Amino acid sequence: MNKKDFPLMFERSKEGRTSYSLPELDIPDFDLDADIESNYIRTTPADLPEVSELDIMRHYTGLSNRNYGVDSGFYPLGSCTMKYNPKMNEDVARFDGFSHIHPYQGTESVQGAMEMMYDLQSSLKEITGMHEVSLQSAAGAHGEWTALMMIRAFHEANGDMNRTNIIVPDSAHGTNPASATVAGFKAITVKTNEKGLVDLDDLKRVVDEKTAALMLTNPNTLGLFETEIIEMAEIIHEAGGKLYYDGANLNAIMGYARPGDMGFDAVHLNLHKTFTGPHGGGGPGSGPVGVSEELAAYLPKPLLTKKDEKYVFEYDRPSSIGRVKPYYGNFGINLRAYTYIRTMGAEGLKKASEYAVLNANYMMRKLQKEYDLPYDQHCKHEFVLSGKRQKKLGVRTLDIAKRLLDFGYHPPTIYFPLNVEEAMMVEPTETESKETLDAFIDSMLAIAKEVENNPERVQEAPHNTIVNRMDETLAARKPVLRYQK
Ligand SMILES: *Cc1c(COP(=O)(O)O)cnc(C)c1O
Repeated sequence: MNKKDFPLMFERSKEGRTSYSLPELDIPDFDLDADIESNYIRTTPADLPEVSELDIMRHYTGLSNRNYGVDSGFYPLGSCTMKYNPKMNEDVARFDGFSHIHPYQGTESVQGAMEMMYDLQSSLKEITGMHEVSLQSAAGAHGEWTALMMIRAFHEANGDMNRTNIIVPDSAHGTNPASATVAGFKAITVKTNEKGLVDLDDLKRVVDEKTAALMLTNPNTLGLFETEIIEMAEIIHEAGGKLYYDGANLNAIMGYARPGDMGFDAVHLNLHKTFTGPHGGGGPGSGPVGVSEELAAYLPKPLLTKKDEKYVFEYDRPSSIGRVKPYYGNFGINLRAYTYIRTMGAEGLKKASEYAVLNANYMMRKLQKEYDLPYDQHCKHEFVLSGKRQKKLGVRTLDIAKRLLDFGYHPPTIYFPLNVEEAMMVEPTETESKETLDAFIDSMLAIAKEVENNPERVQEAPHNTIVNRMDETLAARKPVLRYQK
């Protein structure tokens, strides 16, 4: 059946049809009028679909088929690391010993779960090269904010009350300036140079005694490794500021480079990206924070530690910024990340980085034939193309993204980073096969040809989806969220 023709529950409804069969009543029947106050008794029947169990099954299965996820197809959404989420993680997350415990149980009775979290903290310390890690923060942006609050507490503890500025590159993820603002700082922009890296001269210009920290994403949002990172660390530290590493996208450097070794004071990781937590639709995430020895006292409390061979939540932490999340983070996502790290092992994580970088470079070089590549150098886990050439022919990047839906793909991230015109940010991830990469490349090249020969076809896309081109402003401002008969 064509996906478009798929009837919904109300359209399947036939008067009198039910999806249950009950034995005959063998107790006195309920007396509606006697047992319920009259104003609660409805006078017209509820407008519900009358369907069989099979109809219900097909309705929901049909709806699930309309969804698109990593399990259904290629999802090269840059900066989001839509890699495969191994199903072993799901099995482990459902172990009774993990899924049937209660967050208010005494710690004596949940030592196993605490051991898992402690070991995960230890692994993340090793992966990042940081002194201490807390799993409390629930997402990347939350981790950023948590770390900035710690940096703030550090400066205040030193009587350094005038450090009001956080320096953020113009290519940064939008959450960086937002977290800085929410943490009570002012976000100051530092420019990107012609190589797509932080401009050191501009950095020197904006650094001063008001600098609280530099927030840096590395590899940056252009998918490029910041080669002058040691120099940047020196500039910031000399000015008395701290270095914050946005480690949401660690997929290119796991096992190869560590923020701690680069001189960073704080880092957050997105376990729902690099470490295979499923994260479509804004579901639960996990954004652990790692810090240097100097900042460790400010970590959120409680901190999970080990004392006399027992796992404990340490509350006696007078300099702590306090609790940032109920319980101790999103346990289920942390457990999936732990399972992933254990199944991959150190060598496996390194290999994952290698393949992520290899896949991205392979695709970048193939697509460069038809799409502009503003920063032409080796990329890390992702790369950014520009649809400038196509725009000259009247086709925008948005049109290309919509056309990709017809080919059965989730499009790349578009119009981000902001410093690339008509940007398309592609992140293939290491879990895709060469065949999948090649098929996507062929589709992208075919669309580029269409732009030249039949631009209307692209401008009017998508053609094969359940809904066609939407008025996105209207959809955002006046969303229709309920089924309309
Ligand atoms: C995804 C991402 C974030 C934000 O993470 P959330 O979990 O969505 O809050 C921050 N920085 C970068 C570079 C990211 O890719």
